[in-house]
Amino acid sequence: MKADSTGPIPYGRQSIDDADIAAVVRALKSDWLTTGPLVAEFEREVSRISGAKFGVAVSSGTAGLHSAMFALGISAGDEVIVPSLTFAATANAVLYQGGLPIFADVTSESLLIDPADVEKRVTKKTKAIVAVDYAGNPCDYDSLRIIAEKHGLALVSDACHSLGGSYKGRLVGTLADLSVFSFHPVKHITTAEGGMIVTNNETYSGRMKLFRNHGITSDHRERAEKGTCHYEMTALGFNYRLTDIQCALGLSQLGKLGQWVTRRNEIAALYNKSFASLPFIKTLRTQTESINAHHLYVIQLNLEMLSFTRDQALLSLRDSGIHANVHYPPTHLHPYYKERVGTRHGMLPVTERICDRIISLPMFPGMSDQDVGRVIEAVSNL
Ligand SMILES: *Cc1c(COP(=O)(O)O)cnc(C)c1O
Repeated sequence: MKADSTGPIPYGRQSIDDADIAAVVRALKSDWLTTGPLVAEFEREVSRISGAKFGVAVSSGTAGLHSAMFALGISAGDEVIVPSLTFAATANAVLYQGGLPIFADVTSESLLIDPADVEKRVTKKTKAIVAVDYAGNPCDYDSLRIIAEKHGLALVSDACHSLGGSYKGRLVGTLADLSVFSFHPVKHITTAEGGMIVTNNETYSGRMKLFRNHGITSDHRERAEKGTCHYEMTALGFNYRLTDIQCALGLSQLGKLGQWVTRRNEIAALYNKSFASLPFIKTLRTQTESINAHHLYVIQLNLEMLSFTRDQALLSLRDSGIHANVHYPPTHLHPYYKERVGTRHGMLPVTERICDRIISLPMFPGMSDQDVGRVIEAVSNL
């Protein structure tokens, strides 16, 4: 789907230019298609712009979350507190390691994990908290850090929505012990599929580098450089490597991150201004001291004032060429979780109240003001 002035407008879309294409072609013509020098360069650049010491590139954001759980040593019997209003991968990563995700509710103003509810769910088995910067808005990390320190827990940021954002002047990437980014095409920068974990902890970084390469202590290039064929496997890892071709694309994209976050904020400001006068819409609140990276622009419908449902609203927007979306069906209400983890309706009042009211409107840097105008008009006419 291409977003032009008359065609359908998707909720998110990548921007690829000739420089991106040239960078990928250069990588294809180089000696290293994978485990080559561009991987380390991409890791250095992403960790630099996110304020962290170490970066570990992996094949997806999901692989990043799994690697983070491995780094923390999450295993059977451990509990990890996560929000339910997120992509299923956040909680799935805990299950991959044999841990138990414990769902916490969100606040109705920001839809970010509610620190007070997190604290209520801490038990002797809790090992970590995973905060999701929903829509691009950094969570209340000061409050979460206090809870984590009080109970001796690790703090992980699922920052798949918030690359380029900040909280109280601190960059996303410095707010938790481990921060996970995704480079899926709808995210801020893309490598087609890809992800990265950033951290200041060298031990975690080393464990994740092992984990993404089968648990083997050296990679192909290191062995080639040392002229040895010897290697050892010391942990049960996976093949979660990101290729040099993808890192070439990521490096080229990264140079545009700043201008793209600025554009996302301009679009959000246009939406905010127009929707302030629509009583049937509630917009999300960003803390005044944060920079919201605006991966998504989410509205909540005030259903009490309306004679139609959220799903009917989605269909009517679609008739106007606006392909809005829903982020997310709550994780704890997925059949797998209900059947295998024992979650149920009634556990998370705020999440369950808002999940039938939320709509993600189109939000991507390639949107023109005219596109934004079309979305505003369609929403106003609901
Ligand atoms: C996109 C996303 C993921 C997973 O990332 P992939 O790169 O698609 O595996 C995890 N958590 C959140 C909140 C996401 O938005």
